[in-house]
This record gives sequence, structure tokens and C-alpha cells, in this order.
Amino acid sequence: MVGGRVLPTDTTIQGARALRAEILGVGTELLLGQIANTNAQRISSALASIGVDVLWHTVVGDNLERIEAAVTTAHSRAEAVVMTGGLGPTPDDITAEAVANALRRPLDRDERLAATIRSIFEDLGRVMPEENLKQADLPRGATPIEPEGTAPGFYMEQAGSIVFALPGVPWEMEAMLVKTVLPVLQRRGGDSVTLSRHILVVGLGESHTHEKIKDLVAGQTNPTIAFLASGGQVRVRVTAKATSEQEALALIAPVEAGLRERLGASAVQGEGGPLGEILGQLLRARGSTVAAAESLTGGLLGAELSRAPGASDYFLGSLVCYSAESKREVAGLSEAVLGGPGPVSEQAARALAEAAARKYGADLGLSTTGVAGPDEHDGKPVGTIFVGAALGGRTEVRKVRGYGDRSNVRAIAVTAALDLGRRLLDQS
Ligand code: ATP
Ligand code: MG
Repeated sequence: MVGGRVLPTDTTIQGARALRAEILGVGTELLLGQIANTNAQRISSALASIGVDVLWHTVVGDNLERIEAAVTTAHSRAEAVVMTGGLGPTPDDITAEAVANALRRPLDRDERLAATIRSIFEDLGRVMPEENLKQADLPRGATPIEPEGTAPGFYMEQAGSIVFALPGVPWEMEAMLVKTVLPVLQRRGGDSVTLSRHILVVGLGESHTHEKIKDLVAGQTNPTIAFLASGGQVRVRVTAKATSEQEALALIAPVEAGLRERLGASAVQGEGGPLGEILGQLLRARGSTVAAAESLTGGLLGAELSRAPGASDYFLGSLVCYSAESKREVAGLSEAVLGGPGPVSEQAARALAEAAARKYGADLGLSTTGVAGPDEHDGKPVGTIFVGAALGGRTEVRKVRGYGDRSNVRAIAVTAALDLGRRLLDQS
């Protein structure tokens, strides 16, 4: 899957009072691209959920002057700064020192924290390297956050801006975020709530989706409407700010209804979870089963169908028949199809969908075939996709134009096959 692309229709909400936040990742690994900044993503979504506006994501390497400068900048423009990383015991862990420098405070050893760190090692039956006590050195006036692993965090306020320093390890960060950061910010952020609902739109394409609803989008400030497109799906996100959840939902409801009316059957019912799960819910409700035969997607369709817990209630299996040989031997495709229109054709998609249902004894059979690239195949250009769905004696095939790189073409094929299955179930 490619990452979501946000179109410039995401408008800023005016009026409501909200804290402005910056997320500051510390770590040369992040700059080198060795790890992804998942902490920033997680913290952003958590802060959005409590009505805090995240206005900046910054990343800085393990360098004292540069961290100090980044903290100074963040502290001067944001009322909340959430830092992650660099709280460990090694010499390259210098976040506490940098924060102390930026806020012009000395580092003091917190003896209670030092004792906690000692006892963590004793409990583990391990000898504590003396250098670990450095983790108990906090900027003067900071409030310590109890360690989840071995690294404590801290927060401190100065001049109307509060700086949180959390460990880089995601699960330690997560625990401190939930136990400390969110409650502290919620107390000071007033009663502002930000709530989003998502509408999943499939089979319409990004520009057509936009075309249908652009006047609604242009007229909105609260809620705002945003688009996120990836892998042949568009998510329309409706976000409201209010003083309570109920009020936010009341703002969203009429806007969502208006959007759904315009989008018709392309808007998937429900809260827009992954399409494989939505199809699963439809199947489960009817007591029906699904199986797949996939060429182009090489198992991705099966992975998507098995994604939800309890998928064995409806998902029977998927044939991965990648070579022409296996299409013949495993899925039973006829020579007339393989030698005629070929493995990338409407006829092949039809035969594969029917073979899936037949081989597994499933109610619904889905299929994919196509050209993922980078080179054309069999005279068919890259991005040619055929998907099929067979249900109760009726088979539908759809030709879809894939775009982007190989993985995007394949993601689009998975989406198209699931969507065709969903529509067929809806109609029967
Ligand atoms: P430790 O006590 O483990 O040294 P730390 O606070 O010093 O914690 P780092 O050394 O910066 O944190 O990072 C520890 C590990 O956490 C990294 O190797 C990486 O796997 C992960 N990590 C760090 N920063 C991030 C981030 N922004 N997003 C996701 N993972 C991260
Ligand atoms: Mg470290």
C-alpha cells in the first residue's frame, strides 16, 4: 500500500480554543531512515483525539546543540511539546541535558528516581551499570514520569509551554502518553473534543469523488472534510470540534448524511474500516462464505480476507495461481481461455472467480489477474487489472486501471476485487 495522500482540501478549524503542539523526535536513526517515526504518528492521532492541534513534526539527530535549538524553537511556538527518544543511559542519550540547556536550568539528580532505577535492576537480578543513574538527572523543576522499562520520562512547564520527554521505545512511549501526557493536556486544554468519522469510498476514484462533493467541502469549516487516497480507495474524513463528544457527533451527522447521499453505492456503509473486514461482516451476517483465486495479487487478497479476528467463519481459502501452468492445473482454466484471450483477460478473471467458488465450495468466489509491472505482459500495459466475483450462478467482471508502482497496482486490484464482491452481495 502506498501512504495516504492528503489533498489540500483539509481546512483549519477556526474559533475553537485549542492547544498548539509540536512533536519532536530525537534520534539519528530517524534521520538516516533506519526507522520510521511511528511515535510521531501515534502521538499526533492521540493529541487530535483530545482536541490538541499538532502544528509541527520535527526530527533532530543525537546532537546536543541541535536538540537544544529544536527545543528552544518548539517551546517558543507551541504550548505543548512532546519529545521522544534519547532518554537512555548511553552517552548519545542527551535529551534531558538539551532540555535543561534550552530552558536554562541545571540538571539535578532525583534521588527517588535513582532508587527506582536501582530497584528495577535488582528485581531483574542484573547489575546496574553506574552510568544508568544518569537517567535520574532531570532539569530542575521537572516532574518525573515513572519508568515503564528502565528509562524515566519527565515533563516541565515554563512560560506557558509544557515540554514532555518520553523514551523512544514505542511501548514505553505509549504507556506514558496514555497515563500522563494525555491527562495533563486534557486538564489544561479546556473541554475541547475533536472527533472524526470516516466514509470509505470505493470504485469511484479520487477525482470523481472530489467532483461529486467539492461544493460541500468548500462550504465547511466545522466540521472539516478531508480526502485520503490510497490503493484505489478514498477515505473522506469528517472532523468536528466541540465541547462534548455528543455535540461533535451532532455537527458531523448532517454533513455525513449529505456526503453519503452524493456518493451513493460507492460509499461503504459503516465506519470505513478495512474493506476486507467490511466484506467479512456482510458475509457473516448472511452466513455466507468466500474464497479467492488470485494471480496478480499473489496472496494479498487472501491476506486481506483473513485480516479480521474470526475470519475463519467466512473465509475458506485462496488459490495463488501465478503461472499459466497453475491456472490450468490448479484452477482448471481452459486452453481456450489461456491460449485465446490469455491469462490477463476478462475471461480469465471470470473463470478464476468461478473456480475459486467451485474448488472451495464457497458462496462467493473472487479473483484477480493483471499486469503489476514494471514491464508490460502479453501485450497488455502495466496497470491492466481484471477482477471477478461469482455468487450464486452470477459472475461479474470489472476492468480496472491501476496506477503507480507494482505494490500500488496490486493494492488497487485487492480493493477492486473486494468491492466487486461487496456490491454483488448487496444486490443479491
Ligand atoms: P532507551 O532507554 O531504550 O535507550 P531512549 O529514550 O534512549 O530509550 P532511543 O535510544 O532514542 O530511546 O530509541 C530506542 C529505540 O526506540 C530505537 O532504537 C527505536 O527502535 C525506537 N524509537 C526511537 N524513536 C522512535 C520513533 N520516533 N518512532 C518509533 N520508534 C522509535
Ligand atoms: Mg537510547
